[in-house]
Amino acid sequence: YAINMEQLSLQNELGRGNYGTVKKVLHRPTNVEMAMKEIRLELDSSKLNGILMELDILHRAISPYIVEFYGAFFVESCVYYCMEHMDGGSLASLCCFPAGGNVNLTSEHSPPNSSSSSTSASRTRNPARPTEPVLARIASSMTRGLAFLKDHLGVMHRDVKPTNVLVNTKGEVKLCDFGVSGQLEKSIARTNVGCQSYMAPERIKGSSASPPNADDTFTSYTVSADIWSLGLSIVEIAKGRYPYPPETYENVFAQLSAIVEGEAPGLPEDGDEEVDGPIIGGGQASGSPQDGREGSPMVIIEENGVVDESGDGTGTGTGNGPGKGKKSRWTPDAKDWVRRCLVKNASERATYPELLDHPWLLADMDREVDMVGWVARAMEWRDRGRKAGE
Ligand code: ATP
Ligand code: MG
Repeated sequence: YAINMEQLSLQNELGRGNYGTVKKVLHRPTNVEMAMKEIRLELDSSKLNGILMELDILHRAISPYIVEFYGAFFVESCVYYCMEHMDGGSLASLCCFPAGGNVNLTSEHSPPNSSSSSTSASRTRNPARPTEPVLARIASSMTRGLAFLKDHLGVMHRDVKPTNVLVNTKGEVKLCDFGVSGQLEKSIARTNVGCQSYMAPERIKGSSASPPNADDTFTSYTVSADIWSLGLSIVEIAKGRYPYPPETYENVFAQLSAIVEGEAPGLPEDGDEEVDGPIIGGGQASGSPQDGREGSPMVIIEENGVVDESGDGTGTGTGNGPGKGKKSRWTPDAKDWVRRCLVKNASERATYPELLDHPWLLADMDREVDMVGWVARAMEWRDRGRKAGE
């Protein structure tokens, strides 16, 4: 039966995105904890039923790699969307250094610049940084989720990025927030733009007539655009940082042109400087709820030495010493897999069957990976950072 607001007890806020807030709620009739996303809409009420009908397809999105959908309803000008609560939060919050929130065009915020504004910085190794088996399991789960959407629902995701990959303390990795409703997409009140683009070059080019991100929904690009975003997300999760330069107020197109014109990013090669994880310090992103990453692992004070990363039981955590000329911690298979996603020419990009048959993901199938342990350590790191940042 349909869920409605009267059945829900509101609990804490789980995060905040560009278009609304996500809260933990208890659905009293079933005693199920859910995550409820509120999306503010600009529309006339005649469209509401159309949107609900389009969202209905979500009831068929039942896969171990997709966040479960429980139902949606409207109150006033908002749609409320109830889904499985993933108690580990997003991979962005666990692995990625915040980008300085999102550019809010309507506020007088100063330009986000968290990556360089840290002052009392001291750097430490992030013990939560994924080892290669963990990264491979994440990549495999994301690929299987995306392939499921395509094969079973005939949809592409359209918004693959680390904030839309959620984990739980059972060690599961699932995708959320895929665009099944064109009508909903068109009705979202967009006052903000994200400051990190995961769009494939062909999507950016295709939407060049309009502001980035504004109305490129359901147009020319295809499912391979998701594969670019998948590769880019894996690079960010591995490095702990979004690999392109930030969009700034001075140059709003710096990032988009780097994606279209520049060399595609990849996993760090031998000798590359690798980000060791967050830089400690003030930074305006500290405590900012802008993108739900307010607690990203950015504040660690007492930890200052080598931390054993190989707690996943595979013994593959290498641990790079300081200094230049170090060996990449990623195997050739991992680098090749990512390279196959981040091909700028969409027609040459890998497909889901190719990615799943790649040696990197075949090896993942035969491996035990302690995802439960990794999620627990990553959450501990993040939540300690949150406390210290308060
Ligand atoms: P954007 O608005 O650009 O899509 P976003 O994905 O961060 O960014 P939301 O989808 O509104 O924005 O989600 C906000 C945050 O809420 C996420 O980053 C995540 O941390 C948290 N969140 C979302 N859905 C769930 C869920 N089902 N369970 C637990 N936490 C969630
Ligand atoms: Mg999201």
